[in-house]
Amino acid sequence: NRGRFEGKCAIVTGAGSGIGKAAAIKLAKEGAKVALFDLLNSRTQGTEAEINKVHPGMSRAFDVDVSDPVRVEQAVREVAEHFGGIDIVFANAGINGAVGPIEEMTFDEWQKTMSINLNGTFLTVKHTVPYLKKQSGGSIIITSSINGNDRFSGFGMSAYSTTKAGQVAFAKMAALELAKYKIRVNVICPGAIATNIDSSTEVSEDLQEIIIPVEYPEGSQPLADGPGEAENVADLVAFLASNESIHVTGARIVIDGAESLL
Ligand code: NAD
Repeated sequence: NRGRFEGKCAIVTGAGSGIGKAAAIKLAKEGAKVALFDLLNSRTQGTEAEINKVHPGMSRAFDVDVSDPVRVEQAVREVAEHFGGIDIVFANAGINGAVGPIEEMTFDEWQKTMSINLNGTFLTVKHTVPYLKKQSGGSIIITSSINGNDRFSGFGMSAYSTTKAGQVAFAKMAALELAKYKIRVNVICPGAIATNIDSSTEVSEDLQEIIIPVEYPEGSQPLADGPGEAENVADLVAFLASNESIHVTGARIVIDGAESLL
């Protein structure tokens, strides 16, 4: 499929790790110029180096906290200037955030998860839409989760699940609103995928003991006998970014190896 994204520019948020990293590499491999949005850390530089080693100049890391309205707007403008336009947007950055009983969760903890997962999605879409319109169309893909949509067994994950359900509603409204501009918006719901997401979980020690383990071995999936790979999700993202999904918009696609059917 080399060349599917030739001449296209993609923004990937959360591109320093996991699903975002795999998607950035996949899109670049098939010809896209890729802007990597993440908190500035060595991992993001690693994704940039990995892509540029094989495809020189095709990738650039941007230090962006997706919950920062000023920085998102500015960085999106920088991408358009650097790469000459934006065609594909993968709003994927997210954290597990605070996990614990609702009455123990502080407002700040709740807000942090909302800011990154939900406000971050809104800001990424809001500030890229004007550029997608200039290209007479484009594809936006949002990473939600089966958690908050297909299953609710993650005890203590009320904040995370709320953001993941909210992203689905947002994606559908955006799909409806942007269809007349030929901008497609789809949302993907992964099950457990082997990434660094667990390092973003904040569980205070006194809450650890009241976390009830889920009823099946964490990460088990009937199809895969374990968690899925980030590369599996990247293949779906590439499909939704490409013209092969030209009539698909407002869709919510589960990618979980049947985990949510357990
Ligand atoms: P990950 O932790 O490996 O990668 C997430 C990346 O997002 C990290 O590089 C992190 O630095 C970045 N990030 C965090 N906060 C940010 C911010 N404020 N601004 C910019 N970047 C920020 O995790 P992942 O599993 O690849 O997660 C990607 C998405 O997939 C998330 O939205 C997550 O909720 C979703 N998801 C993951 C799983 C799973 O099992 N891994 C399942 C369902 C959904």
